[in-house]
Amino acid sequence: MTNRVVLIGHPVAHSFSAAMQQAAFDALEIDARYELWDRRQIDLAEAIAQLRGEEFLGANVTIPHKEHVVPMMDRLTDDAQATGAVNVISREGKKLVGHNTDVTGFKVALDKIVGRQKMPRQAVVLGAGGAARAVVSALIGEGFQRVVIFNRHLHRAEALVRYFGKSAAHMDLRAMPWHESVLEAEVSKTKVLVNATAVGMAAGETPIPAELLPPDIFVLDLIYNPPVTQLIKDATAARDAVIGGEPMLLQQGARAFELWTGKPAPIEVMQAELDRAREHGLLQVEIDMGPAGDSASAPSA
Ligand code: NAP
Repeated sequence: MTNRVVLIGHPVAHSFSAAMQQAAFDALEIDARYELWDRRQIDLAEAIAQLRGEEFLGANVTIPHKEHVVPMMDRLTDDAQATGAVNVISREGKKLVGHNTDVTGFKVALDKIVGRQKMPRQAVVLGAGGAARAVVSALIGEGFQRVVIFNRHLHRAEALVRYFGKSAAHMDLRAMPWHESVLEAEVSKTKVLVNATAVGMAAGETPIPAELLPPDIFVLDLIYNPPVTQLIKDATAARDAVIGGEPMLLQQGARAFELWTGKPAPIEVMQAELDRAREHGLLQVEIDMGPAGDSASAPSA
């Protein structure tokens, strides 16, 4: 029986996970197939129920369902509990376990960009979705003292702050309205800027005007496709240290692989596949869109 692992999201066609994980399965001769399931929220519960079947090793969950799947899990790990978001599902018998490997993935990216310098204590986070929750959890864990969240819909940023209420009681974690003057004031005094919104996936769009970027800060853009976003270009021009979403993608994916297979991830193989996907476009992966699928979001390459 060929095992199955699926990516559940909407859309899913932008994802590099299929190519990266399939290359890892093949390299270790694990009989498993990684599929893309494009599912709207209305079809999510049915998709999750299917994962209890024996042939499934588990799943990845992506935009916009990371928070929606939380109540559908039988058990949550500490990182999933802390963030209130799940990006990896594994199976224990018929039970589903929700994990959040984005937290570790982001920590690795943060450590990489900060390098030997002192870890900063202030950050501005753009976005309040599942990825932002992983970022905030990691920043709290790293000892940040002031973290300001901006989000298009302020109530979602406020909900995030409430969610982290207890674990952030010792620090200043706050939501602010996304007005350019407020954003400018906060960004001008921060050391770390994280884009955890989906803005930048389309060519040329950026969550923050170039002229608001101060020099000499750390800019992390979680978007990995395209690998160099407009924000990364603008921040480089402003003499900031920058890192795109790829290192985080690789690290969260390696941990997901280990959870599904119980084997160490072949990280060089996964990195090589990401390099290939970046240079030559996405592999044509097999897609089971199912009746709920959206044919408009099939891979373009
Ligand atoms: P999500 O839960 O759906 O959240 C999406 C976020 O983007 C929300 O804050 C949303 O704001 C904001 N947003 C979307 N469209 C917007 C627009 N037109 N203008 C302003 N804000 C907008 O998704 P997610 O899972 O957090 O993912 C967010 C991004 O991080 C995606 O690009 C994803 O690919 C990336 N990511 C990368 C990695 C990695 O390993 N590198 C891991 C996870 C996620 P509202 O709440 O106002 O709608």
